Amino acid sequence: MSEDDETIARRLLAEVERVYPGIAGDVEGYHVSRWPWAAAQLRPGDVARRQELRKAVNGDGRLVFAGGYLTGVSSIGASTRSGIRAGELVAARLGSAG
Ligand SMILES: Cc1cc2nc3c(=O)[nH]c(=O)nc-3n(C[C@H](O)[C@H](O)[C@H](O)COP(=O)(O)OP(=O)(O)OC[C@H]3O[C@@H](n4cnc5c(N)ncnc54)[C@H](O)[C@@H]3O)c2cc1C
Repeated sequence: MSEDDETIARRLLAEVERVYPGIAGDVEGYHVSRWPWAAAQLRPGDVARRQELRKAVNGDGRLVFAGGYLTGVSSIGASTRSGIRAGELVAARLGSAG
């Protein structure tokens, strides 16, 4: 937030360049806006890590977890699906417990 526009633009461009090599040469200008509150951004490997986390916390025990934090970038839709999935897991386990 406290960095100057040029530093922010240079850092961002370096990140984009890693994904789209050569794009820096096409950039003719930039405008930097600062929002003090923003949404989380996934890092490489985060989707796989969340999958591992879901497996770890919702193994086959009696406790089932739900929530946006298990889904990657949390959203109402993802959180709701996580809750529904947790309910289904509980129902299936209760059913299989007989
Ligand atoms: C500013 C902002 C804007 C957003 N805009 C959007 C949007 O436009 N669209 C969208 O899809 N998503 C949006 N989101 C994301 C969305 O709000 C979350 O993904 C979603 O609410 C996560 O749901 P959740 O049930 O996992 O967690 P939460 O909604 O955070 O619910 C967790 C609940 O647990 C309670 N709690 C925490 N600790 C304890 C404790 N120890 N004991 C008892 N209760 C506890 C909390 O008080 C809270 O009520 C936004 C989020 C923010 C912060």
